[in-house]
Amino acid sequence: MLLVRQRALPRAAGVAFVALAVVPDLMHTLPVVAWALFNGLTGDFMLYLRALPDRAQPLPAEVELWSHHLHCVFHSGVIALGVTAATGLWLRVFWWPLAGWWSHILIDVFTHSDDFYPSPVFYPLTYWGFDGVAWNRPGFVIANYAALAVVWAWLLMTRRKRHQR
Ligand SMILES: [Zn+2]
Repeated sequence: MLLVRQRALPRAAGVAFVALAVVPDLMHTLPVVAWALFNGLTGDFMLYLRALPDRAQPLPAEVELWSHHLHCVFHSGVIALGVTAATGLWLRVFWWPLAGWWSHILIDVFTHSDDFYPSPVFYPLTYWGFDGVAWNRPGFVIANYAALAVVWAWLLMTRRKRHQR
């Protein structure tokens, strides 16, 4: 049986959800972007983006420090829990775009491995990360795109169904 979407989500909430799901992988690039732009080293920034753990590019100590901690902060379930609790106390409801951030943290825990940037989900308590299956392994990449195709097809099919009513 086909799942049917009940109602459209408010666009702003959807945009906020997606933005918070993407932000964790952008924040740690900011110090590197600033350093590369300031020194006219755009090629070095591209190198940084494609680097693998065994070919990590040496960066100036301060850039490395900021980049490292920004990555940890935005991949930490401990910090996300604090932010979720604080916004919950403030708004008196779960601000559900935060689920975008949580989705990123949870997905990263299982899609990184000891050899491929284990996700520091318990930062700042520990740097320990779960030894999952790295997302860049060929089988994983194929399964990932297949899953995206299935979801895309489902969205198209349920959209058509809604329009027929
Ligand atoms: Zn990430």
